[in-house]
Amino acid sequence: MKTNLNLNLKNIFDWSIIQEDKPIIISGPCSAETEEQTIQTAIALRKFGIKIFRAGIWKPRTRPNSFEGVGSIALEWLKTVKSETGMFLATEVANVKHIYESLKAGIDILWIGARTTANPFAIQEIAEALKGIDIPILIKNPVNPDVNLWIGAIERFYKTGITKIGAIHRGFSTYEKSIYRNIPQWQIPVELKTRIPEIPLLCDPSHISGNRQLLKDISQKAIDLNFDGLMIETHPSPDKAWSDAKQQITPNSLKHMIDNLVIREELPKGISLDTIEDLRYRIDQCDDELLNILEKRMNLVHSIGIYKKENKMTILQPGRWENVIGKSIERGLKKNLNKDFISNIFKSIHQESINKQNKIMNNR
Ligand code: PEP
Ligand code: MN
Repeated sequence: MKTNLNLNLKNIFDWSIIQEDKPIIISGPCSAETEEQTIQTAIALRKFGIKIFRAGIWKPRTRPNSFEGVGSIALEWLKTVKSETGMFLATEVANVKHIYESLKAGIDILWIGARTTANPFAIQEIAEALKGIDIPILIKNPVNPDVNLWIGAIERFYKTGITKIGAIHRGFSTYEKSIYRNIPQWQIPVELKTRIPEIPLLCDPSHISGNRQLLKDISQKAIDLNFDGLMIETHPSPDKAWSDAKQQITPNSLKHMIDNLVIREELPKGISLDTIEDLRYRIDQCDDELLNILEKRMNLVHSIGIYKKENKMTILQPGRWENVIGKSIERGLKKNLNKDFISNIFKSIHQESINKQNKIMNNR
């Protein structure tokens, strides 16, 4: 599906101003906590060649009474970071007051958090407050997996005259248990890039993973998918961080991780969905989905097994089975799937369902 955006994104965020090669790395603490922690992190990162410093000042937290950021005072600390290291500064803004204060303090890049992107009223207000100020804006995906809502936020900024726009993929909330804090659903940023090929696309592995262990794999996946850069949270003593302690790493570990990433050759302009990398990736996604669905189906089989046992019903109900396989073959044919292929798969699923119910009936 092509976008009807009709945006002329030629001017869109030109990283050459920052002289940053791909992958662009933005790093710094989840939150600025103290002046010392902020400056210490920046100096360490700068030593490793990182040019863009991030720090949250106003923190949108899920529940009240968690640490909500130190507020405007940290803008002074960020100014010091700039004068001492020459780094570009990035912070999250969620309302008009944040915008004014950040601009006054000389913040170079603003980012919009996932909870804000999900709210078109907030986005509209922020976008209007920026009228006539062409500062780079990075827009995180909304918390829910809705690519149109993400594109809507991009459009709102673009329509008020901002052209330096980038997107950050930080994963999506889910009720289901997962190894991720926010499940990546890579097909969504890939669709965004397909619909707006000009947009620089970064990945935030810190908020996707929610822990240090997964950071490297997620970063590598983003690079494999031709993302333009990474935003990663760093802290001098991660375990002592006031927010997101589990997912932060030291600047040293960041350096080590980046040095160990396989940086892929630049693909032809924009993400081409025909590259073998992308296709394999999407096949892996399908396989994951297949396994999740099989798991769900077998859980239902378990429940029906218990029901049949309690009601002294037979496991095999031939009418029902004929119905299932008949309907599946018919639907499969409409999807251009071979009859024998569908029949074999469903026979195998059915056999496993019978085995499972048999075990339940016989208490094995
Ligand atoms: C953050 O970057 O610190 C942050 C709060 O991220 P998100 O909006 O992705 O939750
Ligand atoms: Mn964070």
